[in-house]
Amino acid sequence: MATNILTYNEIIEKARLTWPGAEGDERAERVKQIVDTRLENYSNVTGFSKEEILIALERARDVNTVNFYQANRLPLLENTHFFDTLSDLKEKFPSGKYICPNCEKISTDPYRCTQPDCDWKVYGLFGDLGKGIKIIVKELFLDHPFPEAMFKPIELK
Ligand SMILES: [Zn+2]
Repeated sequence: MATNILTYNEIIEKARLTWPGAEGDERAERVKQIVDTRLENYSNVTGFSKEEILIALERARDVNTVNFYQANRLPLLENTHFFDTLSDLKEKFPSGKYICPNCEKISTDPYRCTQPDCDWKVYGLFGDLGKGIKIIVKELFLDHPFPEAMFKPIELK
């Protein structure tokens, strides 16, 4: 699971070494582009330094650099609700009620529908069906440097 924490240059060179010749160079360029754009974007959104974020990403990386530094694994932090702390998140959405993307009834759990006969999970194969929200909690970000999906709180309805 845990991999070596690589430096910026090592990440790119490891990607290059996954394939000989021009294909290796293209892979290195693709990885560099993802690292550069994500460090910029994640740093702007969270306020953490690029160095802190790179270490956080490397700590979370469980596959080789080519497979990890990809747009689908590391989305840009757009249309994301940002909170400094978990308490801030709870204050913003005090009802504790969320709209299930599947049955569209109220769930009291933001990740798994509490309606009988539904049991929809936001972390399942079909996710939030595009009807949930993406959140980032700053105090958790360096341990989990990814946006997290949850059902839409009724406060946002
Ligand atoms: Zn449901």
